[in-house]
Amino acid sequence: MRHYHTVGVGAGPANLSLAALFESVAPHQMALLERRPSFAWHPDLLLSGVRLQTSWLKDLVSFADPCHRMSFINYMVSTGRAWGLLNAQYDFIPRQEYAQYLRWASEQLDCIRYGTDIDRITFDNGFAYHADGELVATSDHLVLGLGSKPSAPPGLVGVLGDRAFFPEELTSRVSLLDPADPVAVVGGGQTGAESVLELLGRGFTRISWFGRRPWFQPMDDSPTANDFYRPAYVQFLQDVPRETRRRLVDGHVLTGDAITPGTLRAISQANYDGMLRHGEYPVTLYPERDVVSAEADGDRLTLHAVSPVGREQHIAAHAVLATGRRAAEPPLDPELLERIELDDTGEMLVDSDYSVRWKGPDGHRIFALNRSRYTHGIPDANLTLLSVRSATVINSLFEREIFAIRDTSVSTRWQMAS
Ligand SMILES: Cc1cc2nc3c(=O)[nH]c(=O)nc-3n(C[C@H](O)[C@H](O)[C@H](O)COP(=O)(O)OP(=O)(O)OC[C@H]3O[C@@H](n4cnc5c(N)ncnc54)[C@H](O)[C@@H]3O)c2cc1C
Repeated sequence: MRHYHTVGVGAGPANLSLAALFESVAPHQMALLERRPSFAWHPDLLLSGVRLQTSWLKDLVSFADPCHRMSFINYMVSTGRAWGLLNAQYDFIPRQEYAQYLRWASEQLDCIRYGTDIDRITFDNGFAYHADGELVATSDHLVLGLGSKPSAPPGLVGVLGDRAFFPEELTSRVSLLDPADPVAVVGGGQTGAESVLELLGRGFTRISWFGRRPWFQPMDDSPTANDFYRPAYVQFLQDVPRETRRRLVDGHVLTGDAITPGTLRAISQANYDGMLRHGEYPVTLYPERDVVSAEADGDRLTLHAVSPVGREQHIAAHAVLATGRRAAEPPLDPELLERIELDDTGEMLVDSDYSVRWKGPDGHRIFALNRSRYTHGIPDANLTLLSVRSATVINSLFEREIFAIRDTSVSTRWQMAS
């Protein structure tokens, strides 16, 4: 049991980036506590052919410290893959490559303690971390990097089990399913699309794909949409009143929570190829369908959907519920939780430096990564600004500008200076 300056709970990309920059500022004073037995990045969603949605330049460290040894470029060069990857001319690199980069980066750090599932964090003149009833570490400061987990709307939760499951289970279950059976994929986002593509690749011929939006909408990756994914815009958001900020961020949803055009093209072409082979399209698309409930009866599922023109029923043997993700619950002791300020939706209040507002003594800070969509915008749940966010946290923790964040060459005026 050791005392640290800072402990990060979770060793996903968010805390990995923080630990990478932290190590170069204050070596051996930070630990990451991770429940997994070894490093992995959404391992159950690494379906065949999936691509990163972000430029590989947006790695764990480079936009804060371009000379850092844990850059993606260093990974590529030191593993001998740089020329191979470059000459393969990907628009977006395989997600598998990025996962291997993250694993390589995790191996450069000796501060990660795996197999440590933190079930309780208490505070008594310092944060104390408990796993399986044992005190495993203490620290002055806490950083929550817990990520998210799959979720289903209330009306679908009841059918989760043999016949309906989250995409995380698709790889392990798909070989047990009969490709001739009708399968429903619920969810018109990227994970739903990737599930459809996986089923197509496995020879399924009766796939029904449901999405709530008017059509299966592509992600807007245009230069102007990408302006929301830069430090200057995040800075601009900080000065906007809360309610306006919420409205603005809701308007940006298609820049992040949508399907990459490449995936949509791949589905359309595989569907057309399937039609040429079998005489019928293997995928039927059902846009503007809100699947609100379902019931299982023997070997079939009945899905109830609401559309603008009425209600519908659809029968399937199985359903993949790609119905979104929600933030993982922080394992805070009730006494500690009571000291944290929440907003009107029950979410922790996160300030512009990613610190959580709480009633604690000086010298003990809590930071939350990937939990401030309405403070920092959609990129907070994304890889784009990982290194910038980590730099902001470290500058705030050490109360000086250790990492400079420069984004001054901006041609967009989001608001005229008054
Ligand atoms: C399939 C998928 C693909 C994505 N692809 C992209 C992309 O291409 N580009 C992009 O910008 N964004 C992408 N994202 C969004 C986002 O970048 C990732 O979700 C990213 O992994 C978020 O990092 P994180 O560290 O916040 O959370 P996570 O990666 O979820 O890591 C959280 C870690 O915390 C651990 N943990 C949780 N609770 C505890 C606990 N109590 N004790 C100990 N450990 C705990 C978990 O085991 C996990 O390892 C993707 C998301 C998904 C789901």
